[in-house]
Amino acid sequence: MATSMAEHHAVRLAHAEAHAALHGLALTPLRRQVYAAIVASDRPIGAYELLDALEPQRGRVPPTTIYRALDFLLAHGFVHRIESKNAFFACCEVGVPHRSQFLMCDGCGATVEIPGGDLAQQLSHSAPAHGFEVHRQVVELSGLCARCARATRPAGAPL
Ligand SMILES: [Zn+2]
Ligand SMILES: [Zn+2]
Repeated sequence: MATSMAEHHAVRLAHAEAHAALHGLALTPLRRQVYAAIVASDRPIGAYELLDALEPQRGRVPPTTIYRALDFLLAHGFVHRIESKNAFFACCEVGVPHRSQFLMCDGCGATVEIPGGDLAQQLSHSAPAHGFEVHRQVVELSGLCARCARATRPAGAPL
């Protein structure tokens, strides 16, 4: 299990590196380490948690350095910003422009990205009718993941 997760992360890192190389994006060692720490987390991770995660590799990095790396990763679609948590989550489709919905568990924090979809399109199309110009569109749904829902529901209770 641990090995397959590590392999999964390695595949995502390799994909991100290939994407960066193809588009001439400078995925510097620091940016790569920040990205790897975000990929390794199954829930949104905040800037200060990232500082802690990087400390064994780089020592104490100034927060401004982390924020600059995050700006780069956000600007080029490597990660998404989860507004409600002021935290960051690795994109499931680096290099494919999309809008996303996020399912976020209130129990364990596990987060799943659902890219694209009709809902996102409906939202972005309805905004101009209100004279509203959308700059950023993130839809966040909170609730319980399947595992936490099972754990909190008494055995045999109806769904
Ligand atoms: Zn995404
Ligand atoms: Zn959960």
